Amino acid sequence: MADVKPPAVLFSACLLGDAVRYDGGDNLQVHNAIRIWHQNDCIYRLCPEVAGGLPIPRPAAEIIGAGGDAVLDGSARVVTLDGSDVTPAFLLGAQRTLAVCQQNNIKIAVLTEGSPSCGSQRIHAGRFSGSKTAGQGVTSALLRTNGIKVFSQHQLDEALLCWSSLSD
Ligand code: SF4
Repeated sequence: MADVKPPAVLFSACLLGDAVRYDGGDNLQVHNAIRIWHQNDCIYRLCPEVAGGLPIPRPAAEIIGAGGDAVLDGSARVVTLDGSDVTPAFLLGAQRTLAVCQQNNIKIAVLTEGSPSCGSQRIHAGRFSGSKTAGQGVTSALLRTNGIKVFSQHQLDEALLCWSSLSD
């Protein structure tokens, strides 16, 4: 009987220690679920903003007045503090992330909370004040629209349960 491959999981690269954040840092997480996924060799890692062509480091950016869904439908923009419109790079990064998921049959993603790309429950409020609001980033919105379950680094136990149910 052929070996059955475990389901793949997409990760925000910064959660695995890659220094891809806007400020050149990372968001490294240590958790049993990550250890299990590493052991199963089923992790894909990607930074949507770098995949969209943005450099490291790069100016901080926020979605103005809305969330990732509004960016996808063209009714909101992603801008930097100095007013540069980086929406095209955010959209390209989201599309490239979705393509990786579709090419590798990825149904689960663990993405960094708070990011204008990767946030899944909260994002910066668009005022560059440090305040956050309920909402999701551009990549999270696109993945969810396409049926991929998105968790944050604060939901690794839930993500592991979901992965286990897909593994049965
Ligand atoms: S875009 Fe996502 S993966 Fe890239 S640094 Fe920001 S939170 Fe991490």
